[in-house]
Amino acid sequence: MGVGPACEAAEARSGGIGPDQIDAFAEGELIDFVHATAIYGCGTSAGGATVICVDSQRLPTFDSDMNRVTYGHYIFCEGHCEAARLPHEFVHVRQFEDTGDAMGIDYLVQYVWSGFSYESNPYEVEARSVGR
Ligand SMILES: [Zn+2]
Repeated sequence: MGVGPACEAAEARSGGIGPDQIDAFAEGELIDFVHATAIYGCGTSAGGATVICVDSQRLPTFDSDMNRVTYGHYIFCEGHCEAARLPHEFVHVRQFEDTGDAMGIDYLVQYVWSGFSYESNPYEVEARSVGR
């Protein structure tokens, strides 16, 4: 369990689901990194936590084709988070609530096992079932 105000805030939001180091990193580091232009609650996760949308000037990802990425309970969007795109990202939030901080490394493992395919990654296959 992390310490400090950021971790406590993340834990409070998540209702105690998981150790939430990914949430603490998103809040403590990534929001600054992306040069956020707006940070706002944009829904409630399957686990009952507030999900935070972050309108961003850049994304915390190596893949320049992406325009959204979710870390824990934080959805980062290039420009503005469009409501139509959120169901897909909320699946990733639920996956995080199921898997906890292990999702970070497991997502990468699944990506490799899928032949370095974003499309074939089981996390993405499930998320695409509700939208792109
Ligand atoms: Zn996805």
